[in-house]
Amino acid sequence: MNKGTINVSVDNIFPLIKKFLYSDHEIFLRELISNATDATLKMKHLTNIGEADGVAYGNPIIEVKLDKKKKQLRIIDQGIGMTKDEVEKYINEIAFSGAEEFIEKYKDKNGKDAGIIGHFGLGFYSAFMVAEKVEIITKSFKDQPAVHWICDGSPEFTIEETDKKERGTEIILHIAEDSTEFLEENRIRELLVKYNKFMPIPIKFGTRTEKLPKPEGAKEDDKAPTEEVDNIINNPTPAWTKQPTELEDKDYKSFYRELYPMQFEEPLFHIHLNVDYPFNLTGILYFPKMTNDMSIQKDKIQLYQNQVFVTDNVEGIVPEFLTMLRGVIDSPDIPLNVSRSYLQADGAVKKISSYITRKVADKLKGLFNNDREGFEKKWNDIKIVIEYGMLTEDKFFEKAKDFALFPTVGNTYFTFSELKEKIKDVQTDKDGNLVILYASNKEEQHSYIEAAKEKGYEILLLDSPIVTHLLQKIEGSEEKISFVRVDSDHIESLIKKDETQISKLTDDEKESLKTFLDGVIPKEKFSVQLEALDSSANPFIITEPEFMRRMKDMQKTGGGGMFGMGGFPEMYNLIINTNHELVVEILNTKTEKKKERLVSQALDLAKLSKNLLKGEDLTAFIKRSYEMIK
Ligand code: ADP
Repeated sequence: MNKGTINVSVDNIFPLIKKFLYSDHEIFLRELISNATDATLKMKHLTNIGEADGVAYGNPIIEVKLDKKKKQLRIIDQGIGMTKDEVEKYINEIAFSGAEEFIEKYKDKNGKDAGIIGHFGLGFYSAFMVAEKVEIITKSFKDQPAVHWICDGSPEFTIEETDKKERGTEIILHIAEDSTEFLEENRIRELLVKYNKFMPIPIKFGTRTEKLPKPEGAKEDDKAPTEEVDNIINNPTPAWTKQPTELEDKDYKSFYRELYPMQFEEPLFHIHLNVDYPFNLTGILYFPKMTNDMSIQKDKIQLYQNQVFVTDNVEGIVPEFLTMLRGVIDSPDIPLNVSRSYLQADGAVKKISSYITRKVADKLKGLFNNDREGFEKKWNDIKIVIEYGMLTEDKFFEKAKDFALFPTVGNTYFTFSELKEKIKDVQTDKDGNLVILYASNKEEQHSYIEAAKEKGYEILLLDSPIVTHLLQKIEGSEEKISFVRVDSDHIESLIKKDETQISKLTDDEKESLKTFLDGVIPKEKFSVQLEALDSSANPFIITEPEFMRRMKDMQKTGGGGMFGMGGFPEMYNLIINTNHELVVEILNTKTEKKKERLVSQALDLAKLSKNLLKGEDLTAFIKRSYEMIK
């Protein structure tokens, strides 16, 4: 037997490994299975190119075995194995120096950024995060004796020849007292499913019972015979490793179910990513049905490197608006041993991010071009992603202009250029600005919508939480265009035309009406304006100036430099239509009390149509109304 000391400067590196990877101990299994997979794939390569001295590749698997009594976890592969010299070199020298380098690099960080550092391929030595002693029994495919290496976590090890016959490597972990969770079958199964579900070599963990078909002539209540078969936990050829031409729509759907077994709703469509220059990336992204709540739908995309699961936090790799999608991305070119901020500055990652954005935009455009009707049907379920993307990524904004839809309250879907063309004759104001009217809620803004329809205007229905921000952006990118919500002004002022309305009231009458109204209407809530509108328009109309409302909206959803501006006052315009009969009647009513009652009633009705009449005021209104119809 040989004894040796691993040549490192740190006395005992293992406690350090434990300390720095505290939160991520579980990755040891992923690392060891990755090594086993690499060794198996190397064997495959060598037999393929005829350099394996006639050794057959066969159908190798990797086996994970648990022995709770002996406190052992074993990982067994049928890969290339190692000779004694190779163990000396790869395990004692190279692997160890890798671990040492890792510690050197990160010991000052005190676990900061651990999220991503935890994904650093610490390799073989991560076994010591959970084991107090590790053995390697390995037989190389080369005609050399097998070797047995033992190390108890100190820099000392022993190495001797042994009689293992089959090619490959067995790693035996003697699980430490503080890591007994890794002796639980369920815990190991959970880890295998989390990290190795799509690795390229079949992984066996125990066996399972499978029913066989009943033999011919068996009776009805004869039990079907059963058979113990290997329990293979992974799918070695997941959909994203195949070419899009090999896959049908149903394959994409069944892969979605494989990824999200608890998700019963089908995805709306998918995007197959596949590029090998200037970086390597494969993957499949799915558009699920979205709701307007952006935060709950994040962190569903899984990141893999060569079919090994890395993380489901793809922040910094995928543009933020796309983190609402689902699916997988697999790329060996994403550096993982770095912090998030570094990641975002990395050239390759930037290219990956813009490639993904472009692919998503192309897919959407294709859907729009090939099946406009289907695209319109899906619009409500996907608009939040597209609108958020337009708001946050300029490149996406440019592309999305072609397919982003603007639905009207009557369910017609326009693209932006179609919309402009449709409304330009009717909705251009006297200064040549194109005014685009919109509503955010069909029910609440009903009376305003009706008034605008009456004028022949198109009214969009824009109800995403971020829409105000997006409108600002579109206005900034277009000449002479403004968006105006239907309830932001009275109908004649929404789109100002040159026509002047003739007022039924004289200037003196107006003066006297204004003085009276100012006396009875609360100044801190309403600013009263007399306007000569069409006699069929409502007598009292409450509006909220577009600018004020946008400020409030944007403050609610954050951003736009609105932070710290404090609450905005609840302030509205009250427009009095001097051409309406009721207004003339108010003016001509002699008794002060009756006059006030008419004003209160008209004001409450105006509030009601803007959904502002609540609480005490509503109760008083109802009481007053009953008295009036008595
Ligand atoms: P890495 O895998 O990043 O190279 P590791 O510390 O995991 O680093 O492993 C060091 C080396 O030990 C590997 O490169 C490989 O040559 C060898 N090795 C580790 N595990 C096995 C295995 N199961 N079979 C054959 N060789 C292995």
